[in-house]
Amino acid sequence: MPTAPLARTRLLATCATMVLLAVSTAPLTRQAHAQAPAPSYENMPGIAPPGVRVGKYLDVPEAAKGPAVDPAKGYRIQMLGRDLYMVTENVYQAMFLVHETGVVVVDAPPTIAAAIPKAIAEVTDKPITHLIYSHSHTDHIGGAASLGGRPIIIAHEETRKLLARANDPKRPLPTVTFADTYVLSVGSHRLELSYHGNGHEPGNIFIYAPAQKTLMVVDIVFPGWMMWRHLAIAQDVPGYFEHVEKIKSFDFDTLVAGHVARTGTRADVELQSEFLKDLKIAAGSALGSTKVGEGVDPRDFSNAWALFGNFHDRVVIQCVNALTPKWSGRLAGFDVFIWDQCSTMEQSLRVD
Ligand SMILES: [Zn+2]
Repeated sequence: MPTAPLARTRLLATCATMVLLAVSTAPLTRQAHAQAPAPSYENMPGIAPPGVRVGKYLDVPEAAKGPAVDPAKGYRIQMLGRDLYMVTENVYQAMFLVHETGVVVVDAPPTIAAAIPKAIAEVTDKPITHLIYSHSHTDHIGGAASLGGRPIIIAHEETRKLLARANDPKRPLPTVTFADTYVLSVGSHRLELSYHGNGHEPGNIFIYAPAQKTLMVVDIVFPGWMMWRHLAIAQDVPGYFEHVEKIKSFDFDTLVAGHVARTGTRADVELQSEFLKDLKIAAGSALGSTKVGEGVDPRDFSNAWALFGNFHDRVVIQCVNALTPKWSGRLAGFDVFIWDQCSTMEQSLRVD
C-alpha cells in the first residue's frame, strides 16, 4: 500500500526513535544477557584460539620461504623444465607451457593475471592457444577473461557445472571438458590431466607434465606451510586426505601447488602427509578421551548445542596441545590455523 508523504515522515521518525532507543539500551541489554563468567578450560594451549588477537605470530621457518620477487616487476618466473614455467607473486601460482605454435596457460589467479602475459612475453611472442582450469574457484581462475584472445579452455566437467551456476563473466565456460582423463598433445609437448574425485571441491584436477616431471595440483599441499584454514576448505575431508596420498603416486620432482612462495618437492608432500596423519590421531584420541557434559552447568543440560559446543572445544584444545610441540616450528602458519584444522578434523571424524 502506498504511504502518504506525511505518514511516511511519521513512520521514519518512529523508526529513527526506535533505532535511537535500541542504541541507547544496547549496553544494558547485553549486560542483562551476558553469559555468566567461568574460568577458562584446563590446559589452554599457548597458541591463541580464534577470536583472540595475537601480537606477534610465530616466525616463518626458513624452509617455507621462496626466492624473492623483484618489487619493480611484482612477479617472478621459474623454469620447471623444457618450455615449462611457473609465474608467481609468491602467494598464487600459475603455469605456462610454450609449444611450437603457442602457449598453454594453467590457471589465471586475479592477483597475477596481469603478470601472466608479461611473463610469457619474456619467453616467447606466441599467442595463448589453450587455458586449463585447475578448478572453478575464482581466486585461481578469476583472471581468465582478462587474458584476452579466444583460447581453447579445458576443465573437468564438474568445473563446467560450477562455472555455469556462477555465471561469472570473469570465468568463461570451458570449451572442452572431460570426466576421468584428458591428454593435451600440443606440438612436441604433452600434458596429462586426470580427476581423482572431490578432494577440495568437485572438479579439482591433477595436471601432469611427464617430460618435465612436474605435477600441478592446487589447494591440496602447501609446501612448507600449514594448509589454509579448515584443511584448505576441503569439501570432502576423507577425499582431501586421499588427494595428498594420490600426489605421492606420481613420478614428479616439482609440485606446483597453486600457493605460497615456492614450488614443492616430494619431501613437502611427505611432510604434509605426516602432519595429516598426526592430526587425525590427535583429534581421534581427543574424541575418545573426552566426555560430553563434563564441567557444564547443569542448567545447560537440556541445551544440546551448549553440551556439544563445550565438548567440541575440549576436544580441539587437546588436539592443539598434542600437535604443538612437534609441528609449531615445522610448518609456517601453524599457529594461525591449527585451531581450524583440529576443529575440521574433529567434525569429519564424527560424521564422515
Ligand atoms: Zn580452491
